[in-house]
Amino acid sequence: MSTTTSTAADLFRSTFGAEPTGLWSAPGRVNLIGEHTDYNDGLVLPFAIDSRAHLAASVRTDDTVRVVSAQRRDPDGGLPVMEFDLADLVPGSPAAQQWSGYLLGVLWTLRQDGHQVGGLDIALDSTVPVGAGLSSSAALECVTTLAASDLFGLGLSKDRIARIAQRTENDFVGVPCGLMDQMASSACTAGNALFFDVQATTVTQVPFDPESVGLAVMVVDTRVHHQLADGEYAKRRRSCEEAAAKLGVPSLRHIDIDGLDAAIAVLADDVLIRRTRHIVTENARVAATVELLAAGDMVGIGAHLDASHVSMRDDFEITSVEIDLAVEVAQATGAIGARMTGGGFGGSIIALVRQEDFDTIAAAVVEAFAAADYPVPVIRAMSPAAGALRDA
Ligand code: ADP
Ligand code: MG
Repeated sequence: MSTTTSTAADLFRSTFGAEPTGLWSAPGRVNLIGEHTDYNDGLVLPFAIDSRAHLAASVRTDDTVRVVSAQRRDPDGGLPVMEFDLADLVPGSPAAQQWSGYLLGVLWTLRQDGHQVGGLDIALDSTVPVGAGLSSSAALECVTTLAASDLFGLGLSKDRIARIAQRTENDFVGVPCGLMDQMASSACTAGNALFFDVQATTVTQVPFDPESVGLAVMVVDTRVHHQLADGEYAKRRRSCEEAAAKLGVPSLRHIDIDGLDAAIAVLADDVLIRRTRHIVTENARVAATVELLAAGDMVGIGAHLDASHVSMRDDFEITSVEIDLAVEVAQATGAIGARMTGGGFGGSIIALVRQEDFDTIAAAVVEAFAAADYPVPVIRAMSPAAGALRDA
């Protein structure tokens, strides 16, 4: 590789004393609509953001794996290198129990699939905010899977990359996430949202260019992440599985909006009814949003964003006081639509706004957070960026 000014490449050189073979990057994502539907075989509509995990990497001649992250400094300011033997990369191992697991677990997953992989030197530099609901973890998994595919000549498709990345998070790191984040990081394209039908395993690029019609997508990172998130996520999954079992279907995807009343009668349990109602109505909202975007009616999707938030707040119960406040203030100060985005219990909201209203709405959210004594939120405009790719 010829010289590059990338910080991942610089970090690689200063850490390992050599030029990296290549440079790859993969984005975080924001979900326009379709929350908690992915593990119910449902519909989602995320887009890639222009914050990315950058990776510089080279193949080694032995079975040693070394990794360094620009975002993992020692207290003394140094950048420690983590070093493992390929054979020791198994679930539950030291590598799996820290940040390195999101990268190195990919090598375990690839070996599980019978791929021949060897040692690697890896330098990571990511601009995806951690724990903001923007999926920094999927960016790490996808960029590593793509780099390994290229370096070991595996020729993996975008779909395979997403699935290997998801299994790495599920089975190696131990987080039971659905497939949306990894599919978004792997398969999104600039200027489009990604309509992913999990059951049909189809992805469709849906043109989504708010700037072209004077709009903007505002993402408010509340910088609050409630500790109960992981446990509650697992509980939601179990409730959905329990509801599907009671209804005699493989997943809640098999209940559509016309069958909702009948399903409610069968469930006869308040919590299961509300969880099911969220998934069924959310799938319908995703489908409606895709139709509106295809028809060029971007303003029309606002009502679905608002309804999605109410459904997450009241039926799925995954929002938080900070998230609800951000959404309410955005809506009250002129947003076309607003909702929480991501797994919930903190993280970020997304608001579709007119460009001329952006600063007013942002200032109102900041002011409301200050008045409520919440952390200062981080507010950014985001537009659909490219998925994982080789940069050099
Ligand atoms: P998110 O919503 O951002 O995906 P997760 O908890 O799923 O949150 O993943 C965040 C984890 O990913 C961090 O705790 C860390 O282990 C790892 N991670 C993300 N970015 C980096 C980075 N730049 N360097 C090292 N580890 C990172
Ligand atoms: Mg994550």
